[in-house]
Amino acid sequence: MNNYVTISTIDELINAISKYNNNVEDLMLIRKAYELAENLHSTQYRQSGEPYIIHPLNVAYILSEMHAARDTIIAGLLHDTLEDTNITKKELEELFGYDVANLVDGVTKISKMHFQTKEEMNIANTRKIINGFINDVRIIIVKLADRLHNMRTLQYKKVNKQQENALETLEIFAPMAYFIGAYKVKGELEDLSLKYLKPDEYKMVEEIRNKAVERHSDALNEMTQNISDLLTKNYVYNEVFMRVKNIYGIYKRLSEGAKIPDIHDLLALKIMVDEVMACYMALGYVHSIYHPTNDLFKDYICNPKINKYQSLHSTIIGPDGRLVQAQIRTFDMNLYDTYGLSAYWYINNGDTRKNMQEEFKKDYALYDSLKEMNSIYFKDNDAFVRQVKGELFNDKIFVYTINGDMIDLPNGSTPIDFAYKLHTELGNTMVSAIVNDLKVPLNAKLENGDRVKIITSNLADGPQVEWLNMINTTHAKKKIKEYLRKK
Ligand code: MN
Repeated sequence: MNNYVTISTIDELINAISKYNNNVEDLMLIRKAYELAENLHSTQYRQSGEPYIIHPLNVAYILSEMHAARDTIIAGLLHDTLEDTNITKKELEELFGYDVANLVDGVTKISKMHFQTKEEMNIANTRKIINGFINDVRIIIVKLADRLHNMRTLQYKKVNKQQENALETLEIFAPMAYFIGAYKVKGELEDLSLKYLKPDEYKMVEEIRNKAVERHSDALNEMTQNISDLLTKNYVYNEVFMRVKNIYGIYKRLSEGAKIPDIHDLLALKIMVDEVMACYMALGYVHSIYHPTNDLFKDYICNPKINKYQSLHSTIIGPDGRLVQAQIRTFDMNLYDTYGLSAYWYINNGDTRKNMQEEFKKDYALYDSLKEMNSIYFKDNDAFVRQVKGELFNDKIFVYTINGDMIDLPNGSTPIDFAYKLHTELGNTMVSAIVNDLKVPLNAKLENGDRVKIITSNLADGPQVEWLNMINTTHAKKKIKEYLRKK
């Protein structure tokens, strides 16, 4: 069962784009890019036997679903031409401008990064690629669409290639989709990966999920209707849907030891309204008919996630005592929560890509991480890739300062990581740490929601060599080494 659309003509693509961008010049240029790509790939075929152009066409279609702007779509159509045909970057630039040529070049270079195989890869090249992302995040967006279409058509590849691509997708590309907030792409990449890596588990979880939907959908439909009616009666414009958690998400919770009834967001209610204040009003109305469980409320509108995800989450008690997560957000937030940064141009009414890049810099933790990674010395490429996987793509935890500021750290971080993340001087003068009112050792592993206080002293000895084994972030490592070197 595939729940995605595949297209086979340029008219279908133009039709999809014109639903959110009907600028005639943009559409003409996109058509021109298609004609060039079709020409250049005309003698090539995919392993499925289809003409090659079907691949870039569907990559561009995925980008259109993500509400991407013109140049991103054009880069999607042309993304394999530098690698597989004899057009040059300069020619692309003359025809479609610097941005498109640079995007295609960036996407071509990522394809040459090997995260799985031990193939020789030059660290200087890796840095160049990361620098590419730092300067234009759209490279990641086009690459994600490329990978998604390749994963959807993975059945035509050899088994060892399937395993390699699925693992790389799960370890590198699904997290990247998460980091730019493209949850829909992330979910599909994860599910496709699991299907190839652990087909039996995939089937088992899919059955569990189908059963849950069957068992609960009447009650959830009733809740959907009740909430929507109540909001409408009170003049809050709304749309309410039931949303089902992706298979990998459920699989992950189960493998962490959760039981099915513990997964309160297996089925959730998505409640969308016009503006921010209406979210809080809607929350009040929802709680007036379905009692909330107090300890499971999260306000990601005031405290967005590190990928700018915004929503109110409240676990409410539905009919027969079942727990259901209500997710309340504006329509614009929902676009961000679904497609991530790629919807920026659309949400901001055609705002420029320069501003989009600024937003990436300002609001997304991925930018800082990439920048940090690129500023550090690694002895070889293997060490670099290991660090990318470990730091950048592992789950994050969220902890609080005593002032209530939220700080994100990679899972497994300690009070030393926390101190250096806040301020170098704090790390250099720390003597002990208090977590949730209890004194803990410096190498204690922090957990989600911990309140952390760092105790400092003017008489502190400063960081010790042993501290290097008590930390989990590159940043702390760098700062401790700097200190030790000076001493
Ligand atoms: Mn491709």
